[in-house]
Amino acid sequence: MSLKPLLEYYRDLGVKELYRSQPVLPSLEIPAMPASIPLPGLAPENDSFELIRADIGDCRRCRLCEGRNKIVFGSGSPQAKLVFVGEAPGQDEDLQGLPFVGRAGQLLTQMINNTASKEGIAITRDDVYIANVAKCRPPENRAPLPDEMEICGQFLARQLEVLKPKAICALGGTSAKALLGLKDGVTKMRGNWYKWRDFPVMVTYHPSYLLRAYNVEAKREAWEDLKKVLHFVYD
Ligand code: SF4
Repeated sequence: MSLKPLLEYYRDLGVKELYRSQPVLPSLEIPAMPASIPLPGLAPENDSFELIRADIGDCRRCRLCEGRNKIVFGSGSPQAKLVFVGEAPGQDEDLQGLPFVGRAGQLLTQMINNTASKEGIAITRDDVYIANVAKCRPPENRAPLPDEMEICGQFLARQLEVLKPKAICALGGTSAKALLGLKDGVTKMRGNWYKWRDFPVMVTYHPSYLLRAYNVEAKREAWEDLKKVLHFVYD
């Protein structure tokens, strides 16, 4: 990548000074989680993406099937060490059947690729895995409801167990709540490590929140969160 778009990206993130930082590994002081974590696990032995896809089929297990065009299973590397978990598909994702392909998705790609490049970590978006808590688009882009997340979350739980990533990055409060069962808002949770089952979870903002022009400080914070998670996974 040439320098100009990279500088524009960091300017957009609100970063005024660029320097090469030393990687700092988190000590992973993980707070205690609620006793019951809300995503159920109904995984068969020797589970695989093929089995999960077959089980989803033309799924009509919750009301979100009514308005969807395509089920958005997830995309990325089957060997991914890092998984990003969003909320639910939007319009572009619903039409293409792929997660994070609209404007927020383009920002997520830019954030992953540019932050990794700046930090000297040789990965791009293609090396991670990206999925949502709900696989069908909610009407009018509302957040998925608790019962929808609980029903669909079983598939996400199986995907995560198949991938066995080194870390999960929860994008936004809805994803963080679905994974962790906590009531805190994303502003309080972001930048901290939690656990879903045995997997470390970093919480950060959803890229669609970062697209709003006034969120310069949030962009800087999301960049810090991403640096933390990338160094933890890939150093
Ligand atoms: S959101 Fe999930 S559970 Fe609901 S219909 Fe779609 S695939 Fe099935």
